[in-house]
Amino acid sequence: MGKIQELSEQLANQIAAGEVVERPASVVKELVENAIDAGANQIDIFIEEAGLRKIQIIDNGEGIADEDVENAFKRHATSKIHSRNDLFRIRTLGFRGEALPSIASVSQVTLETAVAGAEKGTLLVLAGGKVTQHEAAPLRQGTKITVENLFFNTPARLKYVKTLQTELANVGDIVNRLALSHPKIAFRLVHEGNKMLVTAGNGDLKQTIAGIFGVATAKKMLPIAMEDLDFQINGYVSLPEVTRASRNYMSTIINGRYIKNFALNKAIVNGYGSKLMIGRFPIAVIEITMDPLLVDVNVHPTKQEVRLSKEKELMALLSQGITEVLASQNLIPNAADNLGFKKKQPLPPVAERPEQLAMELPASEAGTTAKTGLAFDAKTSSFYLKGSYPQDVDKPVENPGEKGDTPPTFDSQSLKSEAKESDFSVISEESPETQEAVKEMAAAPAETYPQEAIAEDEDFSYQQETHLHPEFDFAKDGDKSLERALQQVEAVPQERFPQLDYFGQMHGTYLFAQSHEGLYIIDQHAAQERIKYEYFREKIGEVSNDLQDLLVPIVLDYPNSDALKLKEQLVLLQEVGIYLEEFGANSFILRAHPTWYPEGEEESIVREMIDMLLTTGTVSVKKFREATAIMMSCKRSIKANHHLNDLQARVLLEDLARCENPFNCPHGRPVLIHFTNSDMEKMFKRIQDPHRTKDSL
Ligand code: ADP
Ligand code: MG
Repeated sequence: MGKIQELSEQLANQIAAGEVVERPASVVKELVENAIDAGANQIDIFIEEAGLRKIQIIDNGEGIADEDVENAFKRHATSKIHSRNDLFRIRTLGFRGEALPSIASVSQVTLETAVAGAEKGTLLVLAGGKVTQHEAAPLRQGTKITVENLFFNTPARLKYVKTLQTELANVGDIVNRLALSHPKIAFRLVHEGNKMLVTAGNGDLKQTIAGIFGVATAKKMLPIAMEDLDFQINGYVSLPEVTRASRNYMSTIINGRYIKNFALNKAIVNGYGSKLMIGRFPIAVIEITMDPLLVDVNVHPTKQEVRLSKEKELMALLSQGITEVLASQNLIPNAADNLGFKKKQPLPPVAERPEQLAMELPASEAGTTAKTGLAFDAKTSSFYLKGSYPQDVDKPVENPGEKGDTPPTFDSQSLKSEAKESDFSVISEESPETQEAVKEMAAAPAETYPQEAIAEDEDFSYQQETHLHPEFDFAKDGDKSLERALQQVEAVPQERFPQLDYFGQMHGTYLFAQSHEGLYIIDQHAAQERIKYEYFREKIGEVSNDLQDLLVPIVLDYPNSDALKLKEQLVLLQEVGIYLEEFGANSFILRAHPTWYPEGEEESIVREMIDMLLTTGTVSVKKFREATAIMMSCKRSIKANHHLNDLQARVLLEDLARCENPFNCPHGRPVLIHFTNSDMEKMFKRIQDPHRTKDSL
């Protein structure tokens, strides 16, 4: 007998199950999709032990005829496509005929089903993919399928399964998406007697959104509708003020199929333009209807990835539609949001504020702010940089008035932020030669800058970490990105911070300063991020028992999957001073908050901290504190193109000097760069570069 043999059907199914049935949530997905394809308008899902012990799905769809039941469990057996042509016009969620045999091969399945007009229904029982019972059953149109002891015969797969809470959260998440994709179907998800989701099934997408994200969030969603010759788009997008730290809250649905598509998510985000803060993402439910010919769903066994024929056109339509809807809302310019400041009257010039601060802040508060130089103005609920250097207070503030153009204070309404991260470039408009020279010396990232060269010229430093890091994205690369960011913020360089003498700024982005060792260019946004980061990190860590009671308790609603994760992490939240009480199935109530929270920002701070916890998953308190501080500092820092007055600039630099690590922003980018005196002289050819001289000889 030859060496090559056909696999037994059971083994082949188990192999296929590796792709289709990764975890309980994938079983739920496949079975619910079958119920949807069967035309059901009521689907009930009952699970036990996160689905590992039992998943039962009851639908009122068309049912399966007795003669077909056994076939349904054969590989590649489907009622949904017949010919090659059908493959290009798929209107059903299933078509590969793989789910039932795959699931049955790794579990025990009981199926009860009946079609309309039949004399009797059918009961079919399978164990490990083999039929053990096939008999008549009572008549009830529709299908009830029960999957028990999932992965009982594939121990390796069982090991791969995460904690029950995680698996349950995944089930919740997939059912949420299926419900969002089918507002006309009434869904019920029940875990061990607890309702996790109930939707009305009346076709109103907004009601489904409310059922999942909470009524308060649903109220802040705007309807969108646009179409062109190829596509029709409907759905809801959140106001820019309602954002999350992860892309997970954007759902895109094509022809009733929830899909994962990076390009479409990007198009949604693009639609918001500068209204979104970096690292923040909207909540969105986007239903796209198109000719099935334009979309290839046969890319992956789970059918969640698709290939789109006119992807660019679709992206443009989607972005443009969202931009128009948001523009029609006449939103407040986002600068104020970006800064985390309230839109109230502009503050008096910074110089006048120290007394005000002394009067209005409790002693403890004033004491701690002195360290970072950040202060909070209770009247306007805003942070500002505290003018703590009396010698500087008088002169710089007088000047702007004399010039007739008072530079805006941090809080001014006139302040416009492009919300665009300034590209980090050392010098922009210089002769090509100088540019070359400077780039060579300064801009070369540490990876490419030869080690010896750095050693030779220690003075010329990009300080410590010089990689240009893209904004880290927890949602995209999860823990790795978090680790990387945290490593950077934790590494405290041993270097001495120079005594900086400020003398000017450029494009509202860079500050210039000198010391006896040369010229420094400071990225003001990076500097402020660093200062705020250290402020928040310290504050979040200061957990004491004196909490401030809220006049009106805050109620926080979360989708079931998030609520489950939060319930697991309540203790961690307590360690940063957030005491959440469970309040109904997917809601929490907060009655008090740590005293350091600025007035008016209590809810946003709590939400941001919870958001960070949901995005990063389980982490230690220390990491959580740091990650949250990074995010809060980024959100509340001035962006590029904002002119500081002299005093503000000087205070910023003084505050920077007091930072534990003044050299890098929390994302690892450099805060300042340095041209030594000899660099300057070399650039102007006042002294000969010994290397070059040698070469040219
Ligand atoms: P596919 O969905 O790709 O066709 P499945 O293995 O999931 O493959 O299902 C096989 C067949 O079983 C389906 O084509 C359908 O005819 C039938 N079927 C499965 N579940 C149901 C259901 N809940 N109601 C009616 N028919 C079903
Ligand atoms: Mg199917």
